[in-house]
Amino acid sequence: MSMAGAAASMAPRWMMAQAAPATDRVAQMRAQAATVPIHTTKLYDNLYLLQGAGGNMAVQIGPDGKLLIDSSFAPAVPKIREALATLSNDPASTLINTHWHIDHTDGNEGMHAAGFTIYAHQMTRERLSTPQTMKLYDFSLPAAPPAAWPVLTFEDRMHLWHNGDSLDLAHFDPAHTDTDIYIHFHKANVLHVADIWFNGMFPFIDEGTGGNIDGMIKAGAKALALADSETKIIPGHGPLGNKAQLQQFHDMLAAVREKVAALKASGASEQEAIAKKPTAAFDAEYGKGMMNGDAFTGIVYRTV
Ligand SMILES: [Zn+2]
Ligand SMILES: [Zn+2]
Repeated sequence: MSMAGAAASMAPRWMMAQAAPATDRVAQMRAQAATVPIHTTKLYDNLYLLQGAGGNMAVQIGPDGKLLIDSSFAPAVPKIREALATLSNDPASTLINTHWHIDHTDGNEGMHAAGFTIYAHQMTRERLSTPQTMKLYDFSLPAAPPAAWPVLTFEDRMHLWHNGDSLDLAHFDPAHTDTDIYIHFHKANVLHVADIWFNGMFPFIDEGTGGNIDGMIKAGAKALALADSETKIIPGHGPLGNKAQLQQFHDMLAAVREKVAALKASGASEQEAIAKKPTAAFDAEYGKGMMNGDAFTGIVYRTV
C-alpha cells in the first residue's frame, strides 16, 4: 500500500460520513468502527501504537498496569481489549483522553468497565458530561454516560511516573479543540500529540469547540520544541511520524494561514478566498485525506 493509501485508510471514516442525515451519523461511524481491525506497532520495550478505527491509540504495559491513550469508538472496545491482552497480563490501570472527540473517547465507558481510570484535561470532562455540537458536520452529541467521564483532570499540566517511565501531560492552548493535551514519555522518547497533527492530511479543526488555525500552529511549535530527531511522534490520524514530518506539516499550516489571512484582510469573502486556491501548492500532498483544500481553506478563513 502506498503512503497516501495508508494515510487515507487511517483517516477518520466518520468524518467522511457526511451524506447521511445528522441523526444517523453517529450510528454509522460506530457501525464502521466495529469492523476495523487493530494494528499494533512496537515503539519501545513497553510501549505500543494501536491503530484501527478512530484516533491513534498507544498503550504502555508493565507492573503498574496498562496505561492506554484514547479509546476509539465503543464498538471497537472488544478489539482493543483483545489487542491489549495479547501484549501482557498486566491489569488495567489508566486511560488518558487526548481530547473530547468521539473517535477518541467513545470507548471510555467500555474501558472503564474493564478497570481503567480515566484522566484528561478538565475541559474534556466538561464537554463529555454535557451535550456537544460539531459545527462543521452539523451534528449533535448527547452527554456521554457518567462512567465515560474522566475522574482525574488537570488544568495546565501534570506528571506521572508509570512503569519505569516519566510522563508529562500538558494542555495546548485551544488548537484542534479547547481540550487538547499531549503525552510525552521521556524514557521511551515517544510523544503523542493527537489531533493537533493529522500526518499527511489537511487537519480538521473543530471551530465549534475552540479550535482555530493560530492555535494549531502554536501547538505544533510547542510539540516540535519537545522532540528531537529520534522522537517517535504519534499523530491523531495518519501514520506514526517524526520531528521532520511534523515540521513540514507545521510549515504548511503557517503558509496556508498567511495566504488566507492576506485574502481576508484584502476584503475577500470566504467563497472568494476559496476560489483563489490558497492551498494549491499543498493539495497533492495533503488534500487526499478527510479534508480537501477548499474545506480546509474555509476553516482557516473562519478561524484566523
Ligand atoms: Zn480524531
Ligand atoms: Zn479530534
